[in-house]
Amino acid sequence: MFERIMPTVLDGKIVASQLITKLKERVASERAMDPSRAAPQLAVIQVGDNPASKAYISRKLKVAAEIGILTQHVQLSSTSSEREIEEAVARLNDDSSVHGMIVQLPLDQSVKSPESWVNSLLDSIHAHKDADGLATANLGKLFVGESTSSRWTAAIPATALGVMRLLQYYNISPRTKNCVVIGKSRLVGNPTAQLLLQAGGTVSVVHSQSPDWSFLTQRADIVVVAAGVKHLLKPEQVSEKVVLIDVGIHKDVGGLSGDAHPETCAKVAAYSPVPGGVGQLTVACLMENLVELWKRQKK
Ligand code: NAD
Repeated sequence: MFERIMPTVLDGKIVASQLITKLKERVASERAMDPSRAAPQLAVIQVGDNPASKAYISRKLKVAAEIGILTQHVQLSSTSSEREIEEAVARLNDDSSVHGMIVQLPLDQSVKSPESWVNSLLDSIHAHKDADGLATANLGKLFVGESTSSRWTAAIPATALGVMRLLQYYNISPRTKNCVVIGKSRLVGNPTAQLLLQAGGTVSVVHSQSPDWSFLTQRADIVVVAAGVKHLLKPEQVSEKVVLIDVGIHKDVGGLSGDAHPETCAKVAAYSPVPGGVGQLTVACLMENLVELWKRQKK
């Protein structure tokens, strides 16, 4: 009787832990070569008191400390004006002891600013201090292929970089493969599609206004789902040979779940679990960006 082989679990914890160890060694060896050199420093700007943001930030601060990265947590109240938030970014831009900063999104403001203002805030971060890689200047370098997962020259959005690090670890090359990215956000979908494209994949991007995209996912070799819709990707929408990267994170009473239905994960050749997949790598790749920015600022 035909027995189906169990899917390979793409374990983000192992990959993240290996990357964190490498970064720790890199920081230590750079500082050993030049003992007068200041430790790398990451600043995190938080607006308001969103509990999910708090949890993400505390994990970032913990991993930074593990690597030997100093941190500065700038907490602004939810009633802060746009000008006060802009001033916090400007101050960190001018502080030479800070090598990279992030603005924790979404901002928890009592009066929500328009998305265009948030984008201009991200663009006001100096490109060489933009640890999240979300400023237009850095996204531009990614889009023209100047900075890629195999040739880092400028910060790359951490979750997208995490997807590539996960594939690399498991020797899954997008080259010559049909890849589908579900979602086209500035944070995840769009930069992931660009990285897959730069790595030689043939990439389709679908989003909430796309007509039925099942025919694309059904013939794909690699599917990255980053739609923010719980259990969106159903088993009948993929083949058994597909590698599935699930970026989605949804909090339930029973724990965390992703954008792929559990039966979809059971059907495919390999998948990244939620939790324990890409989420682990997002923080590690933020630190990769920071360490690279620090190394370059020395020069
Ligand atoms: P977003 O809301 O900014 O973007 C979602 C994208 O999905 C949009 O482009 C939208 O058009 C598309 N989409 C929505 N419904 C769709 C549908 N039915 N079919 C096809 N496309 C659809 O979200 P985001 O910031 O990109 O995050 C996506 C998911 O990833 C969320 O669940 C988020 O929590 C998670 N996330 C995880 C990490 C991590 O570290 N694992 C990091 C960032 C975001």
